[in-house]
This record gives sequence, structure tokens and C-alpha cells, in this order.
Amino acid sequence: MDLTLPITKTACLAADQDDPLHRFRDQFILPEGVNYLDGNSLGARPATSAQVATRVMEDEWGTGLIRSWNTAGWFELPGRLGNKLAGLLGAGDGEVVVTDTTSLNLFKALAAAVRIQKAADPARKVIVTERDNFPTDIYMAQGMVDFLDQGYSVRLIDHSLSLPDALGADVAVVALSHVNYRTGAMWDMAATSSAIHDAGALAVWDLAHSAGAVPVDLRGAGADFAVGCTYKYLNGGPGSPAFIWVSAAHQDRFWQPLSGWWGHARPFAMEDSYEPVSGIGRFLCGTQPILSMALVECGLDISLAAPMAQVREKSLALTDLFIALVEARRGDHELELITPMDHAQRGSHVSYVHPQGYPVMAALIARGIIGDYREPGVLRFGITPLYVGYMDVWNAVEALFDILDNKLWDTPEFLARLQVT
Ligand SMILES: *Cc1c(COP(=O)(O)O)cnc(C)c1O
Repeated sequence: MDLTLPITKTACLAADQDDPLHRFRDQFILPEGVNYLDGNSLGARPATSAQVATRVMEDEWGTGLIRSWNTAGWFELPGRLGNKLAGLLGAGDGEVVVTDTTSLNLFKALAAAVRIQKAADPARKVIVTERDNFPTDIYMAQGMVDFLDQGYSVRLIDHSLSLPDALGADVAVVALSHVNYRTGAMWDMAATSSAIHDAGALAVWDLAHSAGAVPVDLRGAGADFAVGCTYKYLNGGPGSPAFIWVSAAHQDRFWQPLSGWWGHARPFAMEDSYEPVSGIGRFLCGTQPILSMALVECGLDISLAAPMAQVREKSLALTDLFIALVEARRGDHELELITPMDHAQRGSHVSYVHPQGYPVMAALIARGIIGDYREPGVLRFGITPLYVGYMDVWNAVEALFDILDNKLWDTPEFLARLQVT
């Protein structure tokens, strides 16, 4: 839509009417009166999920019982869903599995990458990641090097521009989040992977805030490993299993330490030593949460039906609109945009720092405008183009300024911290 000022409510209404993705909103269940801007943390519920949950519980578990491992395709689920997801990631068939959590998958990917590098050049003992990364990514890397206990270490970079300086001859792996969880800043995956390779290191990408939200082309970018969530923009449900991808270049070369029976070449031969199955299946460890995993398909099917070019175009239009509306009304409020203006560097959420970020967000949430708060002082608004519209952005910004202009955040109710922000 046209962002020349003043932007009107009428223009937002018209943009919703013209929106080619408008029809997808009905495929989600959202409560009346809720303006949901937190799909980057927990996606909304696909309408089909209740039916699928009932099918899995009543027919597959209730009636099929243990036979369902074979008859309902439970055993094949991680790979079958992985193949569907591959379409959204620029990955090939047999390159992705849905399994475990993002944290666990990152551990497996780092271990696999470190092992490949150890064979190639044992002097490479550094894992590079970002200080501003989602904390679990840093913690898992720290856990990995502690566990290895062979002189490995984690090197944190403070800014994307400092990556080249960090890429010494001692670096084994670089693990980056494609879209930053706090700022929404996005790396150029192809250029960065290529710089990492030029330095002799391997590139591991965390797609937690990318999968289903922005175009991803893992193969085209020449990445080595990738992990990510299905409960964010893919709408898989609370705690739904994550995914892991490995480049075809490493398919039968990689090893991972969580060598459970699901990754064995012959899991039901019950042998007394581990032999990994060939391919991506060796990233599986143990029995999967079938009920939760089955629901991943509901969100995936919706995302696969929505052309990614349209999703991206609308995401940028909505984040642009959000930024323009805030800019027009900002006045002397201490509201600082930390999301890049450059489209090529922007994911699908908008973040502002405000000294009273926590109570301001609490006041928004109390009105049904659900974004979230991240330390330090960050108001985060997730834009899922499948169910967020132009009027939602208009209404969110109106409410934000009502709260700021009238200091409505300044109450004990909003200042008190909840356990999960
Ligand atoms: C959300 C997120 C995670 C979450 O990891 P879990 O293991 O699912 O808790 C990890 N990394 C990044 C970058 C994230 O944004």
C-alpha cells in the first residue's frame, strides 16, 4: 500500500480488501477481540488441528494402539513432514527431519559439523556465534565445548560487521540465527555462508524466525546445516517438534552424538552396537511425540498453500506500515526502532526499545493486542501475514499511542512481572 503520509484508516481497510492472502485468515482459530502479533513466538492454531488431534487420539491411539506405528505411519512421520517442510526451506527430499527441539537439534548439528572439521583440520577448535543470538544457541554451543573438553571454545561476535575478523584459521563452525529474535535483523545467508566457507569453516543456520516467514533457500545459499522451530511461523502448536537439515554434501559423512535407536540402520534388529542409518534419519534419537508432531502438518499445509512471494511481500508491507505509523506519531516518546529499515535485512517482526517496555506491552496485552516483551526494554510485534492484516497494524499502533500518550502503562498491574514474558 501507499505509505505517503498521512496514512488513513480507509487505506488500511482497502489494503485488507485487496489482500491476496486474506483468505488464509479463516484457516486459523483466533479468539474474538484478539489482535495477535506474537506468531513469531507461538503461532496461532490452524482450524484443522482439533480434527487431526481427535483422529490421532481416537482412531490411531485409541483404536489402532501399537499397530499405528505401522498402520498410521507414525514411524515415518519425522521424514514425511521433513519432506513437506523442505519445500519451504529450499531443501531437497530426504534432507530434513522433524524431531526434538531446536536446542537439541542445534547441539546435534554443531557436533556433526565439529566432527567433520576435526577430520579435515584438527586445529580448528572455535565455534563462532553471536552475543545477541537467542540465548539457547549460545548455551548449547557452550555445553558442546565443555562436553568435548578438548580445547574447544566459543567465540562471540558483537555485530555482523565483526564476523570477518572472527573468522580465523582456528574456526571450525559458525552458528548464526538467520533472523535475530530481538531486532528482526536478517543475515544474507548466501553471502555469509560463502564468506564462512572461504575461511574454511562450516555454516550452521538457525531458522527459528525464518521458516514460514521469509524466503529461505538452503541449497542455493550453500549452507551446511540448519535447525529451526515449527511452533513459531509454522503454527505447529505449543512445543511442537523442531526440524534439522543437512546439506547433501555431508549426508553420509556426518555423525551425531545422540546416537539413539531411532537413528540406527536397523532399529528393530536390537543389535548391541550403533550403526547409523544412511542419510538424514541418523539425526533422530528416540521415540517422537506423535500427537504433537501430527499437528505440525496442519500448519505446514497452510504455509505450503500460500505463495512465499506473497507472504514476503505482505510481511514487508505490514512491517513498513507499522514503522511508518509509529514514526508519524512518535513525537517525543522514547521509542527507538531497532529493526532494520532495509528490506533485505528485515525478517517478519518489528521491535522498539522503550524505557517502560514491559508495562507498555502488558497494557497492550490487557487490551487483546498481543505482542511480547524481550529484555532489555524491547517491545516486539510479530507479523504473520497469513493471519495479520493492515487494520490489525493500524489498531495496534493506535492502542500503543493511547497507552503512551496517556501513560496508561503506569499501574501496579502492568508493572508486575509475569514468569513468561
Ligand atoms: C525460539 C528459538 C529457539 C527455541 O529453542 P527451543 O529448543 O524450541 O526452546 C532457539 N533458537 C532461536 C534462535 C529461537 O528464536
